[in-house]
Amino acid sequence: MLLIYCPYCKQYRDEEEFSYAGEAHIKRPQNPLAISDESWGNYLFFRKNPSDVHHEMWNHSSGCRQFFNVARDMITYEIKETYCISESPKIEKYKK
Ligand SMILES: [Zn+2]
Repeated sequence: MLLIYCPYCKQYRDEEEFSYAGEAHIKRPQNPLAISDESWGNYLFFRKNPSDVHHEMWNHSSGCRQFFNVARDMITYEIKETYCISESPKIEKYKK
């Protein structure tokens, strides 16, 4: 079981209170009509699958219901840090 730190509640809570919400830091194309179908398909369907630190969005669905980002090691499941949606990762090594 993971203990996840919610940056809004400022508490460590059980994983069961949270919902995974996909990869973090995905930018929607500024003008979807101006890009190719392939680029649009890549934006919609393709995600990274790294074997090191991955940046993910989580929702504190049974708590404050806020979305936030998690930098998590995909091999060990160790959470390196959590941070608010509007923030960048604090640990320089894991910034994208
Ligand atoms: Zn919370």
